[in-house]
Amino acid sequence: MTTDKIWLRHYPDQIPSSLSYENKTLHSYLKEAAHTFPNKEALDFLGKTMTYGEVYDEALRLANQLILLGIKKGDRVAVMLANSPQAVICYYGVLMSGAIVVQTNPLYVEREIEHQVNDSEAKVMICLDALFPRVEKIRGDSSLEHVIVTSIKDYLSFPKNLIYPFVQKRQTGMKVTIDYNDNTHHLTSILASGQAVEPEVTVDPSEDLALLQYTGGTTGLAKGVMLTHSNLVINTQQAGAWMYRMRAGEERTLAALPFFHVYGMTVVMNFSIMYRSKMIILPKFDPVQALKAIDKHEITLFPGTPTMYVGLINEPSMKKYDLSSIKVCLSGSAPLPLEVQEKFEKLSGGKLVEGYGLTETSPVVMSMPIWGKQKTGSTGIPWPDTDADILSVQTNQSAKDGEIGEIIVKGPQVMKGYWNQPEETAASFNEDWFLTGDMGYRDEDGYFHIVDRKKNVIIAGGFNIYPREIEEVLYEHVGIQEAVVIGIPDPYRGETVKAFIVLKEHQRLTSDELQAFCRKRLASFKVPRLFEFRDELPKTMVGKVLRRVLLEEEKKKLQSD
Ligand code: AMP
Repeated sequence: MTTDKIWLRHYPDQIPSSLSYENKTLHSYLKEAAHTFPNKEALDFLGKTMTYGEVYDEALRLANQLILLGIKKGDRVAVMLANSPQAVICYYGVLMSGAIVVQTNPLYVEREIEHQVNDSEAKVMICLDALFPRVEKIRGDSSLEHVIVTSIKDYLSFPKNLIYPFVQKRQTGMKVTIDYNDNTHHLTSILASGQAVEPEVTVDPSEDLALLQYTGGTTGLAKGVMLTHSNLVINTQQAGAWMYRMRAGEERTLAALPFFHVYGMTVVMNFSIMYRSKMIILPKFDPVQALKAIDKHEITLFPGTPTMYVGLINEPSMKKYDLSSIKVCLSGSAPLPLEVQEKFEKLSGGKLVEGYGLTETSPVVMSMPIWGKQKTGSTGIPWPDTDADILSVQTNQSAKDGEIGEIIVKGPQVMKGYWNQPEETAASFNEDWFLTGDMGYRDEDGYFHIVDRKKNVIIAGGFNIYPREIEEVLYEHVGIQEAVVIGIPDPYRGETVKAFIVLKEHQRLTSDELQAFCRKRLASFKVPRLFEFRDELPKTMVGKVLRRVLLEEEKKKLQSD
């Protein structure tokens, strides 16, 4: 398969179709920033600031102590932290020791932590004190030799008693007591005894892994995506080229996306460090806190998710805040409903563009040109040096313009493969094209449109139904705040379309009214037969609706009927 890259004609003059990439490690950017501008503020966390010099020194201290604990180049270190200064320090500290970061979601339960630790054979785990009991439970039979614990309070001058809201929820009534010993360490003491000198480790950016980033496979437990330093440096440089109005040293980024997800890691953390920006770190996304931070810190870059933008446009006080400093808002990781994009742009006066990518692609593959030709409902065009095509389901060859097929991509940001899973790796490539598992089409201008995840397709009565199309229609309804559509097992039709709805405040709607609304806009076989109204939807930390959870609940209900 070869493509003619017809989208290149829509590249603004400022963006080259091919870039020259720096053969550097991710942490070399922190070093450069610290050497050139040691006193420049790198981050702000609830009022507590740290300079580039301070972050770099702390990361060096950690790196040296990890080496003393026995960490060698290529070893894995699991990091289970929520957004905080420690999350930045530990990420770069682990990289500087030559080890590979295994980002671990702080919401994981023991079974998930255990799988990730043992699959990656992580030797060290760095975690928040509130999460320690979960680590302690799996530690016995695991590969872990050391656990390093940190408390959110360690990096706060104020308020002293703040605990993350989600940690609080899980830890209610539980007092965490930690017995520090030769294998359980406090991060503060580790840093106090570490030396702020560069360790002697040589990393080959294009070969050596920076990350094992676990992602839910279509089946079974999560797989570790192997991303090299170059994969991540390149994707960050591509982001910089795409956002060509960004100026090194001048930007302020809102860090509302979690750093343990590849989107927040690359587009917020790595980008900010490469561009010597100041990161305003929010422990958790909250619309009012985000608006206050944008106003107060004159944020210029705000990467977020559709859920965040939904939260903002439904925040009655949004108009009170000055958002004029924003140069770019990016939306990724899930479909951005058109209604949401338009309303956000109207209310904020800023630009909101959608991008598309996956963990396996570091993550960004394509996005709408920010200051170029816009196309409604599209996720844009591939980034420099990136190729994308549509694989026809019928012919297994390049699809015709407008024909729906599987999106396939290739570029220097595509992963090395899945950790210890050669068969899964082989199955996810067609020659050097990565098979994304997403369905979409390319229009005659070369713009791509995501239709849905391959596995989300509902087959009801022999028809292929893409939930996203129905969700887009539901979002047009003024009373609806959020909507998600799934297919539930049906003995006659194979599957039946069911919609889960969160209504806006003070709205009342019935299933009949919504069915009538959909019937006017959709072919009858696509109209949901079932509606369920909920106060909220189950979601991941980056705001993706957990369709799997909804489906499991439905299956359980069917079994008990
Ligand atoms: P993750 O590996 O967690 O980043 O998830 C990647 C998946 O998120 C992709 O395969 C898509 O299904 C979905 N995704 C990412 N960006 C978008 C987008 N702009 N529109 C629709 N789906 C998206």
